[in-house]
Amino acid sequence: MPADGPVDACRWALAGVTALADAAPMLRRIGSQRGTHAPREFSDGRSGQVVYLSHCLLNQNTRYPGGAVCSGVVVDAVAPYLADGAGIVQMACPEQHTWGGVSKRHLLRLLDHPVAARAGRRLLGPARSYLRWRYQRLARAVARDIADCTASGLEVVGVVGVAGSPSCGVTSTLDLDAALRAVAACSHRTVTAGWLDQHVVEPSIRPGRGLFIDALQAELAKRHLDVPVNEFQLHGSDAAC
Ligand code: SF4
Repeated sequence: MPADGPVDACRWALAGVTALADAAPMLRRIGSQRGTHAPREFSDGRSGQVVYLSHCLLNQNTRYPGGAVCSGVVVDAVAPYLADGAGIVQMACPEQHTWGGVSKRHLLRLLDHPVAARAGRRLLGPARSYLRWRYQRLARAVARDIADCTASGLEVVGVVGVAGSPSCGVTSTLDLDAALRAVAACSHRTVTAGWLDQHVVEPSIRPGRGLFIDALQAELAKRHLDVPVNEFQLHGSDAAC
């Protein structure tokens, strides 16, 4: 019923607020029941299992120059989950989002100019802090998504990163300082497929966690989410594509 004047409008607004207050206990009860539904209650074809993969395991086109080992999907990384019937979620590529898009133009600038690579070493501390901040936001979004899956009764069977990556490594990562030192030391070079791997990436791989995986594990721990986190070995492997 439309309000005839300011007094009626106030009366209607008051009635609305009162109705909401009356419904609050019921809404709270419904809210507290979220997350108690097992997927089998849906009685459809879903397996109830989900895995989160690093972006480039499903799309090698986001790899740095010289870093793609397959034309598109890394079939070996995906096959076990396909066989199990798990749903596959592709996480955002942290380097695409922070290093200048798919072409990672900020990285290319360092590769093209040894002077920039030398300067880059001095800026490594602030750059690392900046990356941590940006990666934390991406990690938070993934952790929220995983929390939603588990609260909805799904089993998140794992997160899979990429061995040796400064961002997505789980047990091995890239020593950025060593990598920049290697880039700065080479004044005459052509960046070709394989050059970067051979002269910069492979000699700079160290045990440790990439910055994005580190942020993601912290976000998962904050939410008490116990999800296995593993890595796929792309470098030096005969991964089937
Ligand atoms: S390892 Fe991570 S950061 Fe590197 S290309 Fe793959 S998804 Fe992107």
